[in-house]
Amino acid sequence: MAYLNVDEVSSATVALSAAFPETCELVTLPEATHEGRTCHALRIGSGPLDDRPSILIVGGQHAREWGSCEICIGAATDLLDAHRAGTGLVYGGQGFDAATIRRIVESAQVFVFPLVNPDGRHHSQTEFAMWRKNRNPAGAVDLNRNYDMLWDFRTALHPASGAAVSDNPASDTYHGTAPFSEPESRNVRWMLDTFPQIRWCIDIHSFGGLLYHVWGHDENQTSTPAMNFLDPAFDGRRGLAGDAYREYVRPEDLDEQARLVGVMHDALRAVRGVSYATGQSFELYPTTGTLSDYPYSRHLADPSLPRVHGILIEWGTEFQPPWAEMERIVLDVSSSLVAFADQALREVGPADATAPA
Ligand SMILES: [Zn+2]
Repeated sequence: MAYLNVDEVSSATVALSAAFPETCELVTLPEATHEGRTCHALRIGSGPLDDRPSILIVGGQHAREWGSCEICIGAATDLLDAHRAGTGLVYGGQGFDAATIRRIVESAQVFVFPLVNPDGRHHSQTEFAMWRKNRNPAGAVDLNRNYDMLWDFRTALHPASGAAVSDNPASDTYHGTAPFSEPESRNVRWMLDTFPQIRWCIDIHSFGGLLYHVWGHDENQTSTPAMNFLDPAFDGRRGLAGDAYREYVRPEDLDEQARLVGVMHDALRAVRGVSYATGQSFELYPTTGTLSDYPYSRHLADPSLPRVHGILIEWGTEFQPPWAEMERIVLDVSSSLVAFADQALREVGPADATAPA
């Protein structure tokens, strides 16, 4: 086996829904890409769609980070296979018992969107391996700077923030002409809009060996709710480490996110001893308009929307490891994803995590 091409990611996704009709449903995204490709996601969960607490796992925003799609497909296949067989899952030194797998598949729903940017992956796999963005012919966009969360970085951030975002179409971090200017990022937003059951969003990238929670644009603080990304009084001050501006997070939300990345870390390390760093995504470099911050920002910008915790994975130590190493990384990260789902259900508590009769 080797890395999947774009058609193989699509056919593997469709094939899982066909092979596991009782626990897996195909979700077809509404918007075609610039090159006319249709995207697919999966809903893993026994029976019909309902209000069970749900997780969204996203891969393949960045074209050259090939293995994210394989992680999505691999973890989904493992969950479905183990549930059908009534067994647990073993990843190296980390095991999950059959009851844990059953609880995830029957008491939760896991939405898996393995390939947000098929045009970019195709270009990376056939023309230019280090391609990152989508293939908008009017100016290719870094999809993971195109979300509506401090998208207008020139207004929001301090000019010296050094944030990894650009308004130059030639840049690898070009944020587009407007928030959600791109069909690919609108497809991800559609998932969040269409499935308000989603309480957690995990965005998979490479590389660095990192497991991060919010925020990406400044350091976190839990004491001053009024100091936040919605207040234009703080425009031009965000994005610097060590200064007065820090972004507010509800303390109980920060605690939950820290527990989640903690169990992900432990379950990943137990596989074969690889240890990923944990923290907030600002520790990588300042960013805006990302899928690691946008889901959590939604309920703050619009209190009618559900609270969605955002998690960022940066797997591995290079974009396209040799396939034999990528297979090991798939197991590492799959272990962290199953542990995440298990812990997420514990965070909800037994009362509302119970599957409907
Ligand atoms: Zn990435």
